[in-house]
Amino acid sequence: MNERQILAIPGPTPVDPRVLRVLSKPTLSHRDPDFIDLFGETLRNFKKIFLCKSGQAVVVAGSGTLAMEMAVVNFLEEGDRLLVINTGYFGDRFVEIFSRHGVEIDQMNVPVGRIPSKDQVREALEKEDYKLVTVQHVDTSIGVANDIKGIGEVANEFDTLVVVDGVCSISGCEFRQDDWKIDVCFTGSQKALAVPPGLGIVMINEDAIQALNERKTLTSNYYCDLSRWLPIMQAYEEGEAAYFATPPVNMIYSLHESVRQILDEGLEKRIRRHSIISRAVKEAVYALSLDCLPASNEIAANTVTAPYYPPKVDGKRFHKTVRREGVVLAGGVLKDLRDKYFRIGHMGNMGSSEILAIVGAIEKGLSACGYEFQRGLGLTAAGEVLTEL
Ligand SMILES: *Cc1c(COP(=O)(O)O)cnc(C)c1O
Repeated sequence: MNERQILAIPGPTPVDPRVLRVLSKPTLSHRDPDFIDLFGETLRNFKKIFLCKSGQAVVVAGSGTLAMEMAVVNFLEEGDRLLVINTGYFGDRFVEIFSRHGVEIDQMNVPVGRIPSKDQVREALEKEDYKLVTVQHVDTSIGVANDIKGIGEVANEFDTLVVVDGVCSISGCEFRQDDWKIDVCFTGSQKALAVPPGLGIVMINEDAIQALNERKTLTSNYYCDLSRWLPIMQAYEEGEAAYFATPPVNMIYSLHESVRQILDEGLEKRIRRHSIISRAVKEAVYALSLDCLPASNEIAANTVTAPYYPPKVDGKRFHKTVRREGVVLAGGVLKDLRDKYFRIGHMGNMGSSEILAIVGAIEKGLSACGYEFQRGLGLTAAGEVLTEL
């Protein structure tokens, strides 16, 4: 096992040694005053990360997919009509989740690499009365970022809840839950938050809490029932323990440490860092004459880059070479394009040295696959952008 491997995939991402180390501290009772303080502080800190002053964070054991399910099932009642803004793989996942709940699902599909405009979303919301609309902030499968601010503004003109999948964006891309009027947003621990996999985080605003209170039937999924979780999280924030299901104590130490590091760095500075390293990777990829899936750079995400392989480059061989260089990249996931592109995750704990190592490994991989280009062009392009850090 190579302990110095750079995980340049869209999650899990490299974890700071201090964030790992706290995992091995003694497991406390979930009622221990020290744990109550630590968990309470972590929950309060999420208001600063989602920029959602009045909201309530819920942290549970599970992956991003559990957070996804939790973020929507609480608002569903039989016969409801929903809109899925579907830009890729995880849009399909929302459709699958919804399809188990006896609701009417409409999808807004766009060609691969594109995002819907604000007007397209407004048109859809004018045509039908939707209880809820879902959208990925960053579509991890393609590397596009949706216009969340625009969608929030439009949905606010209607009586529609907006649920944003921020799994691949929170703390890596600008996101302002209050200002953009997003009712529910969620993420997972292993992406830009840079904690090992294992936690789902859901942030819900006051309107969404009110919608929950107006529910007439029980939420169909017991563990996902936010009406059970909210009082627990509120209690921890107020310095008291409460129990619904045992919190993953050691993982929460880890989350606490990483969240502290994020706020120490400063959210704005962190997002600026992500935008610079993203540009460095993208400039490198363009310098090597590779095309990316997003239709334009303006809609490309800060946290992941998705280039097509050049003609004749064999993906398997490419990834094998890159891995030998100590870098792990991700393959494609879109149904029809799976073998035609790869993905570079660049979120969380990444700086110049990681980005240069990643670009160097990509050059080596392409070269090993017989692709002809001037070695070093990618490194030079990346290096130039990285001087802005
Ligand atoms: C990774 C990811 C998920 C799923 O998270 P898991 O932790 O793998 O369950 C959902 N949405 C987006 C946008 C993601 O990037």
